[in-house]
Amino acid sequence: MQAEMLELDGAIGGGQVLRSALSLSMLSGRPFRIVNIRARRSRPGLLRQHLTAVQAAAQICSAETNGVELGSQQLSFRPGAIRGGDYRFAIGSAGSCTLVLQTLLPALLRADGPSTLRISGGTHNPLAPPADFLQLAWLPLLRRMGARVEMQLLRHGFMPAGGGELAVQVEPSRLQPLHLESPGAPRSQRARALLAGVPGHVGERELERVARRLKWPEQTLQFNWLEQDEGPGNALLLEVVCEEVTEVFCAFGQSGVRAERVADRAIDQLRDWQRSGAAVGEHLADQLLLPMALAGGGSLTTPRLSEHLSSNIEVLRRFLPLDIRCDRTASGSLRIAL
Ligand code: ATP
Repeated sequence: MQAEMLELDGAIGGGQVLRSALSLSMLSGRPFRIVNIRARRSRPGLLRQHLTAVQAAAQICSAETNGVELGSQQLSFRPGAIRGGDYRFAIGSAGSCTLVLQTLLPALLRADGPSTLRISGGTHNPLAPPADFLQLAWLPLLRRMGARVEMQLLRHGFMPAGGGELAVQVEPSRLQPLHLESPGAPRSQRARALLAGVPGHVGERELERVARRLKWPEQTLQFNWLEQDEGPGNALLLEVVCEEVTEVFCAFGQSGVRAERVADRAIDQLRDWQRSGAAVGEHLADQLLLPMALAGGGSLTTPRLSEHLSSNIEVLRRFLPLDIRCDRTASGSLRIAL
């Protein structure tokens, strides 16, 4: 008997609603139809990144699909068996490679054999996890849960040029629950100014701002000079290594925005997380929920309920018989347990 088609309204969030639905459909075998994809965004429907995520997911599990084209605001997806293998996906724009990877990885951990992936497009995009965030913050937590996965950043790709590439190796693995109550004691920190075809004074001013506002010592402030043809692009990455968690906060250089203001954006996010005492910031929180669901349980604390977190909880609840509990900690953070 074929599983009943789940009906989803994409207007509850952005592209993540679709990507989470793809991951969960592949894992649960449940087909879905989604309407109003990214309906409240200025360019609604499937952009290249979302299109690649759907096509890649469909290829990995031999799905039957309908409505999968650029700009489409509704589609259906009926998954088959997940197959490990050697895959290459090209987004064809600066759309985020990391978001495509996050869509596919949960399924590949449950595949019938090992996989390798090459994904090309953007690796450092505003409003998406930069590759460094995956390498330093997200993947180490997944490995702690039992995931056998390695990733290399082969080439940086910034908006709007793209041209970046990730290589990933995945071994089928069973995930164990993870509980993150607090970040644990701080161990080290580092600020990196990524510069590709951008003048050095931009990075200098960003790092000066970090030194001034966060009082981080000089040896923790680094320039990361990239090949000119990987740009133009500039990002400031703030990494904090704690006993339980490594967090990464970033901001991107933008024409017309002063370097100091770019640095302030990353610093403000870091301070917000530190002040809250929560285990993880809002981005890690929404990106850990699905792996925790796959592990059959887990919990975390995070400063607040973001739009991504609440729409992701809603999609998870639609696919899986999960009891997801949200309450407040004594310090006012949000605790999510499933
Ligand atoms: P849309 O344009 O519809 O918003 P999208 O496909 O670009 O869609 P979102 O649905 O907004 O993506 O999801 C973006 C994901 O990227 C979320 O998981 C969010 O937490 C994550 N993210 C955004 N900025 C950062 C950042 N600076 N660091 C880490 N993760 C980030």
